[in-house]
Amino acid sequence: MVIEKQFADGLKSIARNLDIKEYIQQSPELYPLFQKSVKRFVTGESKEDGISIGDQLIHKGYRISLEFIGENTITKEECVRAKEEFIALMKECGNRGISSRISLDLSHIGLSVNPELAYESLLELAKVAQSNGLSLMISMEESAKTDQILSIYKRVVSEYSNVGVTLQAQLHRTLDDINELFNYSGAIRLVKGAYQEPSDICIPRSDKLDERYIQLVDLCVKANHQVSIASHDEVIYKQVIERGYLQNPNVEAEMLYGIRPDLSKKLKDDGLAVRVYLTYGVEWYLYLCHRIAEYPPNIYIAITDMIQGEKDSTQLY
Ligand code: FAD
Repeated sequence: MVIEKQFADGLKSIARNLDIKEYIQQSPELYPLFQKSVKRFVTGESKEDGISIGDQLIHKGYRISLEFIGENTITKEECVRAKEEFIALMKECGNRGISSRISLDLSHIGLSVNPELAYESLLELAKVAQSNGLSLMISMEESAKTDQILSIYKRVVSEYSNVGVTLQAQLHRTLDDINELFNYSGAIRLVKGAYQEPSDICIPRSDKLDERYIQLVDLCVKANHQVSIASHDEVIYKQVIERGYLQNPNVEAEMLYGIRPDLSKKLKDDGLAVRVYLTYGVEWYLYLCHRIAEYPPNIYIAITDMIQGEKDSTQLY
């Protein structure tokens, strides 16, 4: 496990190295290899891939989230292109009668360029989502962006109640944030947190973090607030099921496509509400690195897929 942990830490830092990313993407040998292992976690490169797998999962009894992968977009033109892609995705879902939550990072649609651009874009997306019977869920990014993301969320949800936001249990501030957000009608997605943050503002992975996570779920349930338990942790699910929370119509489980499909299926077969978070797009490299780094044994699965050929996870649900 020590080697796996070292590998995961190394992967986290090389994942953000743009030279390495470009080298892999340009390499006629490496790119197809990485593509083979990504199919397990990412539906494909086009919205049709995401919608098609989403449709299959809906027919199996799941709820879905769809995301066009991207973050930290640094030119206005790219941000506008991303927004247009989200609009096309929502229109396609609307035309096909697909009920989905659309997930997005505000830094994909303007936050890294200018917060007002992110606000304007989100407002437009919320309107299109509403007219297509869909909802939006804002992802939470590094702690340096938390204030900006929550501020944009509050402005938009005051006009469109179909917009929700993600909170990270690992941040100490979340206890205050969550109580404040109960004043707004949007759904809350609760995650442990994917970013490495300074120790004075963050609880590391530990029993203490799990206790905090459950405490936050308790608060949502007592406030009758809609909440997604976005985790792959069986210990968390055991506790929320024991408390009867997943039977509550305001509460659902949400897991990433390709991760613990067995657990998603078990909960769904037990009659509980389970949402599967599906991604698509060409910017899958960082997403794949994150999925491996957060659970190092996934590297063995990735290597097996590279050798034996790509595996789609859909049949596992
Ligand atoms: P952990 O404590 O990390 O893991 C507990 C157990 O879960 C592990 O022992 C293992 O059994 C299983 N597990 C966890 N990860 C994997 C994996 N990759 N493969 C196989 N098994 C695994 N983070 C953000 O910071 N911002 C967001 O907006 C955000 N959105 C998310 C949306 C969804 C739907 C989900 C499910 C996660 C999201 N995350 C987000 C990531 C989240 O913060 C965690 O980093 C991630 O879910 C891993 O934490 P965990 O709760 O599964 O528990």
